[in-house]
Amino acid sequence: MKPVIALVGRTNVGKSTLFNRLTRSRDAIVADVAGLTRDRHYGQGRLGGHEYIVVDTGGFEPDAGSGIYREMARQTAQAIAEADTVIFVVDVRAGLSAQDHDIAVYLRRLGKPCVLAGNKAEGMQESALLAEFYELGLGEVHPVSAAHGQGVRSLLEAALEPLALAAPGEDDAQAGEADTIRMAVAGRPNVGKSTLINAWLGEERLVAFDLPGTTRDAIRVPFEQQGQKYELIDTAGLRKRGKVFEAVEKFSVVKTLRAIESAHVVVLLLDATQGVTDQDAHVAGYILESGRAVVVAVNKWDAVDEYQREQLHRSIENRLAFMKFATIHFISAARRQGIGALWPSIREAYQAATCKMPTPVLTRVLLESVQFQTPKRSGGSRPKPRYAHQGGMNPPVIVVHGNLLEHLTDAYKRFLEGRFRKQFKLVGTPLRLEFRTSK
Ligand code: GDP
Ligand code: GDP
Repeated sequence: MKPVIALVGRTNVGKSTLFNRLTRSRDAIVADVAGLTRDRHYGQGRLGGHEYIVVDTGGFEPDAGSGIYREMARQTAQAIAEADTVIFVVDVRAGLSAQDHDIAVYLRRLGKPCVLAGNKAEGMQESALLAEFYELGLGEVHPVSAAHGQGVRSLLEAALEPLALAAPGEDDAQAGEADTIRMAVAGRPNVGKSTLINAWLGEERLVAFDLPGTTRDAIRVPFEQQGQKYELIDTAGLRKRGKVFEAVEKFSVVKTLRAIESAHVVVLLLDATQGVTDQDAHVAGYILESGRAVVVAVNKWDAVDEYQREQLHRSIENRLAFMKFATIHFISAARRQGIGALWPSIREAYQAATCKMPTPVLTRVLLESVQFQTPKRSGGSRPKPRYAHQGGMNPPVIVVHGNLLEHLTDAYKRFLEGRFRKQFKLVGTPLRLEFRTSK
């Protein structure tokens, strides 16, 4: 399991800036996707071979009085509780504040591994200004400049050091049975996750087992549907109570992220009465970044009128433009409408995600595509794709080799992606294309 790092600190100390540094997109393709919202509070990154998840908790006031601030503080506290390690960010230019003290007290009480980042330290690494932060009682102050990328690597190493880092690839080892589709239902609180899961488990006469779960590990519910084995990874904090599953824990971002990570297929559940919200788009972005196959289900279809349905189609088109590869279902979990139709899409997405693409076929599709539409010349020379092979699965990666491929336009890359998708029926999964130019 990837370790989770929570970024904590008051507003304006540079948490978002640091977050962006720590989650620098691993794949240019993802960064370039139109419509993928950049304003995110969780993401993933990699240090050497080790991947991690970062959660930016927003401005944290442990003593927030009431209303929305109290709710924010509650969510932050939850994110911290679920994290493996905390990076507490302070602003060395602004100096130590009373609020920093409050946060430090809170963190010390938790006894979580915690490192202190003295941000905005560019040009003042040795400064006496750093010294006052030792007062916080959290040990060494790591001077960093999130804006300039200084000290970030050693900060990260310090944050991850106390954790026994899992060897890369361990996720695959715990993958379980080969022919089992691991799936997760992801979505905001109240979109209807529990209702959908219960409707499925009831109606389809699925064989579900009650499994013990610790607070830290999501429970997994194995079942069978039309001869196909599945394992449902819980995102909603579900526990079995009598005949139905009930959410006993509140919504948990970390649990959702972990479930997405370990699933083959994610059912992204939206609420028709709410449209596509920022949080939906964030979860969608995370699914894409994780390379997970996805089926979109718009729930509570029974509760919206024609006009709202129209609006909804449009907002899906705009806000989830980067998920055009996914099938969309309109369902009512409460009325058990449309929910059975999700299964074929889930299987299809799984097959696409784990599809094997032989080199000769890939190369043939590539060369036929080139013949159909030749890449444009750039500066007197023409890019020349020569052959392609599969570079990975789940998500599928196609590596295209040739000459001057750095001059291929984005439009041309999309054209190629479309041809590969069509040939291999890649519905419901992200597809990554990599281009390698021979020198
Ligand atoms: P957040 O509210 O904690 O998320 O803080 P932001 O990341 O939004 O940063 C707040 C302000 O501090 C912005 O104007 C940033 O440009 C600035 N900032 C962030 N990191 C640095 C840094 O390393 N050095 C300096 N000088 N400014 C920084
Ligand atoms: P979760 O937090 O995502 O697990 O959401 P729940 O399954 O607890 O559902 C939240 C609320 O939405 C409950 O009041 C449900 O009765 C309601 N709900 C769930 N599915 C539907 C649906 O298909 N139509 C309507 N109208 N309400 C629904």
